[in-house]
Amino acid sequence: MDNDSPQIDFESLLVGFNASTTPIDCGTMCAPHNPSGKPFCCDICHAVPVAYKPEWDYLKTRTTLWHLWRGDECSDEPMNPDDLLEETPEHLLLLSCKGPAHCEREFRATSCRQFPFFPYITSDFRFIGLAHDWEFESKCWILSHMEQVTPEYRQEFIKTFDLIFSYWMDDFDSYAALSEEVREHYLTIRKRLPLLHRNGSDYLVSPKNETMKKIDLKKLKSHAPYD
Ligand code: SF4
Ligand code: SF4
Repeated sequence: MDNDSPQIDFESLLVGFNASTTPIDCGTMCAPHNPSGKPFCCDICHAVPVAYKPEWDYLKTRTTLWHLWRGDECSDEPMNPDDLLEETPEHLLLLSCKGPAHCEREFRATSCRQFPFFPYITSDFRFIGLAHDWEFESKCWILSHMEQVTPEYRQEFIKTFDLIFSYWMDDFDSYAALSEEVREHYLTIRKRLPLLHRNGSDYLVSPKNETMKKIDLKKLKSHAPYD
C-alpha cells in the first residue's frame, strides 16, 4: 500500500459499513462487566483500535475524535508504543479516541465497526466469512449471542472486506495469517471454530481440515460472565 496505489474512498466505505451489529446496543450489555464502566472494545485499556493509513488521512481531516496512539492513554497500564507497533502490520496505524462518551458514530474506524469479528481466510486463501478473536470471549457480549448479529451487518462486513481486499493484498495476507493463528488455537483446545459464512449460514469449522458442520448459533455455548 504506497502512495501510488489506487486508494479506497473511505467516506463511501464507511457509509456502506454502518449497520448495527445487533438490534440492541451491545455496549449496554458488556459495560457493566468492565470495572471502568466502558464497553470493552471502546476502552483503550482493553483494545487499541487500528486504522488503514489512507483511512487515518480521511479521519484526521474530518474529526478531532482520534489521535495517534501514544501508549500512555491507559493510565493503569502505560505501554511503550514501540512494543505494540512492532507487532502491527506495516499498512496499519494504532489510534486512540476520546472515549465512548465522545464517540462520533459516523467517524468510527473500520476496526470499531468490524469488532469483534475479522475476515476468515481459509488455508487455500478464500475469504469465506466472519470469525472472531477468542481472547475477547469473556468480555464481548456478542460472542455469547452470535445469533443476534443482523443479516445487514454480515452483508456489509463481507462487502467492505471484498472491497478492501480488491485493493490491498497485504491486508488479505494479514488476515490469512490471523486465520491460521486462530486455527492453531482451536486445534490446541480441540474445538471447532464458529463461522458466520458469507452464504448466510453458520458453521463450526474443523481447525484441522476445515470441514464445516452447519449449526444453530443459539445452541453455541456462551462464555462467562454471559452464561
Ligand atoms: S462489540 Fe462486544 S465489546 Fe464491543 S460494545 Fe459490543 S458487546 Fe461490548
Ligand atoms: S470511536 Fe467510538 S466505537 Fe470506536 S473505539 Fe472510540 S468510542 Fe468506541
